[in-house]
Amino acid sequence: MKIFNTLTKKKDDFVPINEGKVGIYVCGPTVYDYIHIGNARPMIVFDTLRRYFEYKGYEVNYVSNFTDVDDKIIKKAIDEGVESTVISERFIEECKKDMAGLNVKEATTHPKATEEIDDMIAMVETLIAKEYAYEVNGTVYFRTRKFSDYGKLSKKNLDDLRAGNRELKVSGQDEKEDALDFVLWKPKKEGEPSWPSPWGEGRPGWHLECSVMSKKYIGDVIDIHAGGEDLIFPHHENEIAQSEAANNAEFARYWMHNGFLKINNEKMSKSLGNFFTVREISEKYDLQVIRFFMLSAHYRSPLNFSADLVESSKNGLDRIKTAASKLEEVMASGVDGDINVAETANVAELYAYVKRFEDAMEDDLNTADAISVIFELVKFVNTTVTADSTKEYAAKAYDTLKLLADILGINVKEEAMLLDEEIENLIQERQDARKAKNFARADEIRNLLTEKGIILEDTREGVRWKRA
Ligand code: AMP
Ligand code: ZN
Repeated sequence: MKIFNTLTKKKDDFVPINEGKVGIYVCGPTVYDYIHIGNARPMIVFDTLRRYFEYKGYEVNYVSNFTDVDDKIIKKAIDEGVESTVISERFIEECKKDMAGLNVKEATTHPKATEEIDDMIAMVETLIAKEYAYEVNGTVYFRTRKFSDYGKLSKKNLDDLRAGNRELKVSGQDEKEDALDFVLWKPKKEGEPSWPSPWGEGRPGWHLECSVMSKKYIGDVIDIHAGGEDLIFPHHENEIAQSEAANNAEFARYWMHNGFLKINNEKMSKSLGNFFTVREISEKYDLQVIRFFMLSAHYRSPLNFSADLVESSKNGLDRIKTAASKLEEVMASGVDGDINVAETANVAELYAYVKRFEDAMEDDLNTADAISVIFELVKFVNTTVTADSTKEYAAKAYDTLKLLADILGINVKEEAMLLDEEIENLIQERQDARKAKNFARADEIRNLLTEKGIILEDTREGVRWKRA
């Protein structure tokens, strides 16, 4: 597979560190509010990358963090008069609901910054010992000048950056040795969450979190590091500096960055106030449509969000679903027996569509072209599967369509997801049925939940459930 690597600025052949395995780290959201649909773009794009690797038979270790200690979280907690963890836990849960709606798989690990503080302190200690970091009045800074590769990802000219940052030094940050030095550990301010450290009570800097969590859950060297293009500088540049200085190893082999989701051709962001949350959008559209819309453009291109474009994605998705349901009908009512000669030739055509889909995905995850192949496949099955087709040919056509849609995380069949509340109501109904000794009904409810992927566990404290 070819991947456009921000580090080399070209499409490189993907070669994994360990054969058959791939470690992917994606910078996750800061959890102080509902995620907006811009945040959903990297989630959907890199989930699709993961699904494609899994389709190819790779064992994928997918790690995406939640930044759960941050100025914005603290500010919101102060405004609401609650602890920071109340805010972060609330929005982690809400974010997970949105991700489920967008059919983004749970990561192998979703580490939280606040649960990895010991390892963060350890990395800062290593950096100080190696003289890559220094402490001033409870703040620890990274000594950027000592890391000779600084700027290699963003291709920035450091002298220009230093000139641009000169005012910072004047504005109270003159304790830094260099304008480009960045914070690894900052001292506690009144009312902020903090942890004890060799440099006093404080909290980690944002960049440090990702260096530590990727090391812990993937290793010193990771195959693919991804995130939105706004993270290239300074976040990813700083992650490289910290990790490579601490570990004496290349940090990430491939760097992938998604383009921005825009609205009226302006970047969608919280600070500009021109954003929609995924939750708001879910009231208007099926989130599957949003997923399909996001994948209809190449991930590196900017993508403009507009009602017209989303509407046309909805129509496109409907066309695919209609084709799938027609195939299902023929699978039930078509001709029994072996596939006929004409159909055998068509089956070969089906494989050709799969190959073309793969070719698009192999070319730097070109989901836009991959979706065009799906549309051509839809046209092909619409003309070659009729009421006179064999059930077997219809099934082969259906499987092919479903296979490709699944790689993109698109369900061709409506699978109504049960909401937490509905699940809990059904569990209660099952308990009531049992009490009333109506075991048939109780079993029926358990089976219904199993079919929907809900696993029940009867414990002494009551019934627990989880999604499979
Ligand atoms: P944040 O919570 O701001 O750190 O963002 C989480 C992720 O969403 C990062 O990978 C950002 O690059 C990405 N992101 C934020 N806004 C947008 C946008 N408008 N379009 C695409 N990606 C975005
Ligand atoms: Zn990060």
